Amino acid sequence: MGNCSTCASKNNCSKKATKEAESCSKITPKYGHIKNIIGVISGKGGVGKSTVTGIIATELAKKGFKVGVLDADITGPSMPRFFGINEKRAEIIPLDNGQDVKFIPVTTPLGIKVISINLLTQEEDQPVLWRGPVINGVLNQMYGDTQWDDIDYLLIDMPPGTGDIALTVMQSFPISSMVIVSTPQDMVSMIVKKVVIMTEKLNVPVNGVVENMAYIVCNGCKEKTRVFSKKSAEEHAEYLGIPLLGELPINLDLVENLENGTAEDYIKGIDMYSSLINSIVK
Ligand code: ADP
Repeated sequence: MGNCSTCASKNNCSKKATKEAESCSKITPKYGHIKNIIGVISGKGGVGKSTVTGIIATELAKKGFKVGVLDADITGPSMPRFFGINEKRAEIIPLDNGQDVKFIPVTTPLGIKVISINLLTQEEDQPVLWRGPVINGVLNQMYGDTQWDDIDYLLIDMPPGTGDIALTVMQSFPISSMVIVSTPQDMVSMIVKKVVIMTEKLNVPVNGVVENMAYIVCNGCKEKTRVFSKKSAEEHAEYLGIPLLGELPINLDLVENLENGTAEDYIKGIDMYSSLINSIVK
């Protein structure tokens, strides 16, 4: 049996498994059933992990799936901005026992249910000054105590890196697979590879890598120019040892829509990102 004293699922697990990484059983959401959980992760901040999470969630919703998004980037939450719902607040409903609460997520126009610390606190620019165990507890609550109802895919926007929260999510939540986000740069790939190795060590299946902001397209001639590295996205994926799910351009129309809170509507109207989910939807 592993050491359960520091586990996020302490007091909530069967303690029957033998391997340390599996020593605590997974948390089960109390209000609904989630068929598949896709974690979206990167080694470094700023590579577009949250943007790709929003794109995948929107593409899945476009296909008619019931989708939820859990913003697990507690100290840098950005999913409410992506969906233009940052002025709204999730409902916090006190339960009869006087101790527990239930969260009602905010629903986007396409029907995506979103929960984020920024939808639960009063003002979006207030930092959370919590240490790891508190953050882990809040995250477990956001996952387990949210009224997801029945959803096909829950996308989890993970914090960057291989730290405490990433460990909690991979060990305590029944992840179906992970999507890794990177930019095609040797330095970024080196750090992202740590995440790939982490998933291997924790036996979490990986879909592949999205190489984001890989190129720009010239307005006039439509030629693609690689911006970070002359190496191809395939070469970077090969270094990571996982399949390439796609490479995305720097897209200023997307940025403009992110700034206006209309990214979901923009992605709804274009095909550019639809092939990204081919390996996710089997
Ligand atoms: P992360 O979650 O990895 O920290 P974000 O998704 O928040 O990264 O993206 C970081 C910044 O890069 C944001 O300002 C976002 O608008 C921008 N960005 C991400 N992907 C693209 C893209 N494909 N084209 C243009 N800007 C992008």
